[in-house]
Order: sequence, then C-alpha cells, then structure tokens
Amino acid sequence: MRIDILTLFPMMFYNVINSSMMNIAQQKDIVDIRVTNIRNFTYDKHHKVDEKPYGGGPGMLMKPEPIFRAVESIWHPPDIKPLLILLSPQGEVFDQHLAKKLSEERHLIMICGHYEGVDERVRQGLSPKEISVGDYVLTGGELPAMIITDAVTRLLPGALGGKDSTHLESFQSNLLEYPQYTKPEVWRDMKVPDILKSGHHKKICEWQHQQAKLRTQKRRPDLLKQNKKVEHDESS
Ligand code: SAM
Repeated sequence: MRIDILTLFPMMFYNVINSSMMNIAQQKDIVDIRVTNIRNFTYDKHHKVDEKPYGGGPGMLMKPEPIFRAVESIWHPPDIKPLLILLSPQGEVFDQHLAKKLSEERHLIMICGHYEGVDERVRQGLSPKEISVGDYVLTGGELPAMIITDAVTRLLPGALGGKDSTHLESFQSNLLEYPQYTKPEVWRDMKVPDILKSGHHKKICEWQHQQAKLRTQKRRPDLLKQNKKVEHDESS
C-alpha cells in the first residue's frame, strides 16, 4: 500500500512515521509512506499558501492551487484514482471499521488542512472523502493523518508480528479487549487470575470472552448495539 500525505508541516511526521510499527512496516515494504510539502507547489515569489476568505471572517484559508498541484504531482489521470482523503472535522468519524476499509485500498492521498481550513473548491474539484477523528477541532490535519496512517498500517498483512494481534483487539468484534496480565504473578497484593495460569486453553478463551463482554457492557454499551463488526479474511 502507498500512503501520500500532503501537508504544510512535513517535519511533524518524521519521528512518527520513522518509529515503531510504521517504521518496521516500511522496512518490510508493506507500506510506502511519503510526505509532501504543499508549499513546494506555490509558484509566486513569497510561496503563499493561504489568503483571507472572501466575504470576511476570521483567519486564513488554504488556497486551492497548491493543493490541486500537489495532488496532480502524485496522481496523473487517466491512472487509477487513489482514494483522496481530506482531513476535516466535518467528515465521517474515523473508527476501526473505516480503518479496515481504508486498509483494503491500494493508494491513499491525505490532504491536511490548516488555519481555518481549505478553499471550498478543493471539495468541489477533487471530491475527497472527508474524515474526522472526532467531534473537536484541531489546529491542522497532521495529527489526524498520523492517527489514520497508524491505524491503517497496523491492519496490513504482516505489519504486526503475531497473526492474532489485531483479531483480539478492542473494536474488532464490537467488544473491548479483555484484561491482560504479565509477570510478576503478584504485584503489591494484586494477583494474576488463576484461570490464566491454568493452561486450559478453552476455559481461558471463555473467560477472556466473558471479560470482554462485561467490560464493554460497563464502559461502552453503545458498541454492543452496533452492527459494524470488522470482518476478518480467512488468511489473516
Ligand atoms: N474552520 C474549520 C471548521 O470549523 O470546520 C476548522 C479548521 S481546523 C482549525 C484546521 C484543519 O485542521 C482542518 O482543515 C482539518 O484539516 C484539520 N482538523 C481539525 N479538526 C479535525 C478533526 N476533528 N478531524 C480531522 N481533521 C481536523
């Protein structure tokens, strides 16, 4: 998979995409993450990327021309159109179900807005899918782009070590993950439940499933009503 991120602040990405799982996934050629500076597509003397909005109003808006040119430097029609994403608080709210859908694409291009957002013609002319990371307003689309890149990359086959790693995680089956323990067996009078040390695989699975249901019921009962199960393909 290829992920292109278009931003005015490329420096924000380097530590994130070159650390931990995202770094390993790139080393293994599972994903190719490229960050492009939208400012490189300004041809005026001052490399201006923003202007005041017509009709007045606070702040500055990102101009359309550098964004269109940046997209067109990556996607050359009639080549197959990548999935264009505009990070926006007005978009579909990102969740594990959407992460799974995006992980099935071959190529994503994410446009990070900044300031007061982008000129409306970016929506009109490029028809991006708008994605929000939640009902709050951030300074720019950079952190949302990092969140999406992380959540999508870890779903790509081979990105995580164990084959069950994502299967058992929160949200994969409308359930939050069950409680987990590691060594030592006792820490400050808090003990690892006996069942987990029993070696009885079937009973352990039953306990984990029951704990996941209890935890979800208590913390996120809304998830149990959703019909958004994330499907797993047989091979993963
Ligand atoms: N004026 C815009 C509005 O009210 O919809 C908000 C602009 S925000 C300060 C600047 C940029 O940050 C947006 O263009 C978008 O790219 C990004 N952004 C802010 N909050 C976001 C969110 N919850 N999800 C995704 N992107 C967000």
